[in-house]
Amino acid sequence: MINKYKNYIMPTYAPPEIFFEKGNGVYLYDQQGNKYLDFIAGIAVNCLGYKHPKLTKAIKEQTEKILHISNLFPIKEQIQLAETLSNEFGGAKSFFCNSGAEANEGAIKLARKYAKKVLNSDKYEFITMNKSFHGRTLATVTATGQEKYQKDLSPLPQGFKYAEFGNIDSIKAQITAKTCAIIIEPIQGEGGINKAPKSFWEDLQATCKTNQILLIMDEVQTGIGRTGKMFGHQLFDIKPDIMTLAKGLGGGVPIGAIVAKPDVANAFSPGDHAATFGGNYLACKSALTVINTINNDKLLENVNQIGSFIKNELNTLKKKYPFIKEVRGEGLMIGCEIDESINCQQIIQKALEQKLIINCIGGKVIRIAPPLILTKSQAQEGLKILEKIFSNI
Ligand SMILES: *Cc1c(COP(=O)(O)O)cnc(C)c1O
Repeated sequence: MINKYKNYIMPTYAPPEIFFEKGNGVYLYDQQGNKYLDFIAGIAVNCLGYKHPKLTKAIKEQTEKILHISNLFPIKEQIQLAETLSNEFGGAKSFFCNSGAEANEGAIKLARKYAKKVLNSDKYEFITMNKSFHGRTLATVTATGQEKYQKDLSPLPQGFKYAEFGNIDSIKAQITAKTCAIIIEPIQGEGGINKAPKSFWEDLQATCKTNQILLIMDEVQTGIGRTGKMFGHQLFDIKPDIMTLAKGLGGGVPIGAIVAKPDVANAFSPGDHAATFGGNYLACKSALTVINTINNDKLLENVNQIGSFIKNELNTLKKKYPFIKEVRGEGLMIGCEIDESINCQQIIQKALEQKLIINCIGGKVIRIAPPLILTKSQAQEGLKILEKIFSNI
């Protein structure tokens, strides 16, 4: 089968020869019936884990009614989801699409429309951060402050400038009369789980207000409970003008969203933006179920508790194993930076052999992003495997 993969799938990934057949809770099962503990959750997507009874039931019921009809007609489930997001955000209108890149691409368009139509200005420039990740479309890969993703793709769209994450002076130095928005992740995900202090976020919000610059927060990875808050920006008591969501939103069903303060959202007029699949019945019913389950089952408390437990345990390991340089993150978005002399990919490989799924970002950070339903004993089970690997380095 892996030969057929090579024959028929474009070579953008290089996966190991493991075919997963089913999942249950935080565990995955391969064709041979081997059981794996999943600390990556489909890259921070499967927040309710696998085969969650509430999500499975909601999807089953929805498939028996209707899946898709396009946005030529209003969709009740889409309105309910937008209302739910508005309540969680504190007043917003939403546009639904299918992925994180698509949400960011739409946010970029919305910011330019706002600058032209509402501010009557010729602002068009974006400031984004070094080590950021915003997606793989041409505009979002340009917004992504990592050259390796932009290689061979020129000419790239114009109007993107880069600054240091967490450094307000570096951002201010890039601001011109043409700056229309700043795009930033609350915690940098693919760039290595990088955090900035609360004072930075307050300064950033004030700088944006003073200069009539929109603050766009890319919550594709941090959103939907991952950091222990429903949205990552809520960690800092600030509110962006536009927020983008995807990954965890549908609990495994593809859906993305642009969520914006109403006055910003209203810069879009009918015909300005569209998505055929965006916000269909299946995707919105799934997302509604995910958010309601996070709230009803008090999963944010679990994320904070289990997240602190994992970080504490990793910090204990750090004292024992000096090649662990730093443990960081919030909630169940955790990075464990290891010394560059250690082969991170090899640790991932060894973990996989011992049936623990983790991954490596930025070449030297082990990422832990399990389903939000992870229990303490399951966390211990994964940490035990990690310690065993560390002890053999
Ligand atoms: C994953 C990710 C994206 C891209 O999402 P896709 O669904 O793969 O297009 C964008 N921004 C952030 C912060 C992400 O983590």
